[in-house]
Amino acid sequence: MWPSEPDLFFPDHVEPEGAKDGPSWYFAFLGSELVCKSVSGSIEPLSGDDFRWLDLDMGEKHYLGTYEQNHCFAVRGKGASPEGYVALDLRGILGRVQQPIFYLSGRAKQILDWSETHRFCGRCGEKTDYHKSDRAKICPRCGLICYPRLSPSIIVLVTRGEEMLLARNVNWPAGMYSTLAGFVESGESIEQTVHREVHEEVGLQVKELRYFGSQSWPFPNSLMLGFHAEYKSGEIVCQAGEIADAQWFKRDSLPQTPPKTAISGWLIEEFVRSLA
Ligand SMILES: [Zn+2]
Repeated sequence: MWPSEPDLFFPDHVEPEGAKDGPSWYFAFLGSELVCKSVSGSIEPLSGDDFRWLDLDMGEKHYLGTYEQNHCFAVRGKGASPEGYVALDLRGILGRVQQPIFYLSGRAKQILDWSETHRFCGRCGEKTDYHKSDRAKICPRCGLICYPRLSPSIIVLVTRGEEMLLARNVNWPAGMYSTLAGFVESGESIEQTVHREVHEEVGLQVKELRYFGSQSWPFPNSLMLGFHAEYKSGEIVCQAGEIADAQWFKRDSLPQTPPKTAISGWLIEEFVRSLA
């Protein structure tokens, strides 16, 4: 199932009393890699007991909230992965941990990244403080408030009858095709972004936009907003330097496409299901 339902995570930025003694998950990063342990063939982040036992050299700690009554923390430190554990980047855990754990790992990394890059005010250079009531940093001199950054992006599967338009980015491995995607620009609605990106990347006009769902995509801080859209007019013209190839595909002759852990894979799967 696509994760459209609320899950069992309750965010909070203030650590409640006694949280560190209760059941907990530690999203412990060494640089950009999450320290994980293998549990009967799959992997998990560290439990509170693991974290205390390992005694890792960690810097800042951020409280994230509770997931299934477990207190969740984000920490980052230095050094090598401890013996018997593995350190994997977020792409390395995608599809190998339960989906809520992937999103929590992404949340943890984004908060750590934001905290590291907002230690000083971007306007006046003063050292920032934590905001008292929000997950934010505030400048004590000029009052600038900075929240963790999100970069909304659209992702769209364009269809024409039973055909799907899939494209290959110039940087992707040969044979890999996906839906079109791009960042929302300042001043745009997400619908305008869909029309602009499709036109820029493949030279087509589309119609009948239908919102499908969204996905937090922590590479590094995207929020992907997924659409289906129907072809309206135009001939495929690939954007130079961006799109290596784009073609119409039928469901029985699909190229290699992203897995269902990515919203692009779900957009394709949903369309194929609708044809059945
Ligand atoms: Zn300032």
